[in-house]
Amino acid sequence: MNELPFERAAVIDLAAVRHNVRSLLDRLQPSEPDAQTPRPRLMAVVKADAYGHGAEPVARAALAAGADRLGVAHVREALELRQAGLTAPILAWLHTPDTPFAEAIAADVTLGVSGWDLDAVAGAVRALRDAGDGQARARVHLKLDTGLGRHGCMPADRPAFCARAAELEQAGLVEVDGVFSHLGVADDPERAAETEAQREEFLRGVDDAERALGHGLIRHLANTPATLSRPDTHLDMVRVGLGLYGLSPFEGVPAARFGLRPVMSLRTSLANVKRVPAGQGVSYGFRHRTQAATVLGLVPVGYADGVPRLADDAPLHVAGRSCTVAGRIAMDQFVVDLGPDASEAPGAPVELFGPESGITADAWAAAAGTINYELVTRIGARVPRVHVDTEAGGGNDAVDGHGSAASPVREVRFQLDGVEQTQAFAGRLAGLLRAGDVLVLTGDLGAGKTTFTQGLGRGLGVREGIISPTFVLSRIHPSLEGGPDLVHVDAYRLGSAEELLDTGLEDTVAGSVTVVEWGHGMAERLAGHPEDPRASWLDLHLTRSSGGKGDQDEGPHGGDGLVFDFSDEDGATTDETRTAVLRAYGPRWAQEPLDDLVVERRGS
Ligand SMILES: *Cc1c(COP(=O)(O)O)cnc(C)c1O
Repeated sequence: MNELPFERAAVIDLAAVRHNVRSLLDRLQPSEPDAQTPRPRLMAVVKADAYGHGAEPVARAALAAGADRLGVAHVREALELRQAGLTAPILAWLHTPDTPFAEAIAADVTLGVSGWDLDAVAGAVRALRDAGDGQARARVHLKLDTGLGRHGCMPADRPAFCARAAELEQAGLVEVDGVFSHLGVADDPERAAETEAQREEFLRGVDDAERALGHGLIRHLANTPATLSRPDTHLDMVRVGLGLYGLSPFEGVPAARFGLRPVMSLRTSLANVKRVPAGQGVSYGFRHRTQAATVLGLVPVGYADGVPRLADDAPLHVAGRSCTVAGRIAMDQFVVDLGPDASEAPGAPVELFGPESGITADAWAAAAGTINYELVTRIGARVPRVHVDTEAGGGNDAVDGHGSAASPVREVRFQLDGVEQTQAFAGRLAGLLRAGDVLVLTGDLGAGKTTFTQGLGRGLGVREGIISPTFVLSRIHPSLEGGPDLVHVDAYRLGSAEELLDTGLEDTVAGSVTVVEWGHGMAERLAGHPEDPRASWLDLHLTRSSGGKGDQDEGPHGGDGLVFDFSDEDGATTDETRTAVLRAYGPRWAQEPLDDLVVERRGS
């Protein structure tokens, strides 16, 4: 189970996100059953780092599955998504006077406004215009309070608020696109009357707003519970958070009842296993004492990792067996009683919750006296989010078995005819590279990896002599021009990102251009922690388009492990055609002119 190269991880299944989006979309029906009324749209709410699941990959998966747009609480969350290269509409709705409104407007982030912030937004538009952006204009949605008592314009203040919005729209400073409100008790079906009262108040507010503005607006009211239980609240759009993550908002009603699949699994492995006598105190306060001689397992996650201290007797799986927490959950760890006959060893896989064990985040939430929303959202920063795709190949966010994160911001495909074009391409790419850049290079024997890297080295102006690094693991080619060195690595024999980092690459990466052959799923870690939204790298996949020598399938070393890819491996004297797919990940590559690298584009 713990085949991931991490000691602990929140494993996020992007296929489950897509499944949940599609299954939620299936529920959305036009409010009037005539052909003119469109189906409601779905806003994927990815605030709080997608409820702890990783905002960027989740946002991409949700959009790929048909979500219309994204929703977040803070403008800064929206700006991070923009920096990651996401261009879908994003709504942000919780501001203070310190919110960077001008930045938001410049990045085309739609702003939910409740009162004072409407004029602050208009002020930011004027400031942008004074600074030279004559076209600046803010897109806003009006937020109405229909009973929740938090944000939103109160009914009594509505006439003035709507009139002001109309005035600013007339003046060309804002464009009012939508109107929304938030429900207070939709998760409690017994309190349908209160939800109904909010819905009616909202519809009155919509009337006021549309009349004042003189045009229609996107009306949105439903959160996950209302999306699942109140079709009459779907209107033009629903705002779904919890449901995306495959969790149920209704106490005691499992998400599976709604066809939703849990997205997060919290996994680790045992840090220790030991035999103890009867009467052994366990963890702080000795709140648990063994009744008889037994075997204790140590689980290396604690409240610093978001495992609630109060979840005393929460369930978990150790090597597929059901156990419960024994004694206090501490900051970094807790203990399980494995029983006197236990045969598990350190490293035995542990799942606290997730589809494999069938244990839900709800069970942990219940043990801790909280809700599943809080449980997943508070998984700590010390736990890497590892994005996988159990339908790998079925979606554009597929990843390999190593569980690397993210989706490319750019993808360029092209054909390279022979050595000259391959090296010319590499030389052009070298012109874009700078110290700190990481390039993962994959390709069969004879696909041209060494030819490519030689061209890259020439373009970077490093010392010659580039051969396949198979024998040496890693080779440094110092720059002869005061630029970055080229570090050329073969990761084929390495099993994990940790092993790769252990080779000392971490020390050279910042000052070099690092090319890692067979580093897919590992080398990305060099470019930054998987959770770091700024982590950026390139992934180049070369394949031979036609026959040629060396027909070994995968791996540079052939079936018996004795064939090595020396510098003539890629038929450096032939004019074979190769297909190259260059995928760029992270904000570093969002703007670079990668399309210009194409030598001669064939087909599409
Ligand atoms: C968080 C939030 C949502 C999403 O709620 P879920 O119950 O997770 O679907 C929708 N709208 C607003 C205004 C929110 O703050």
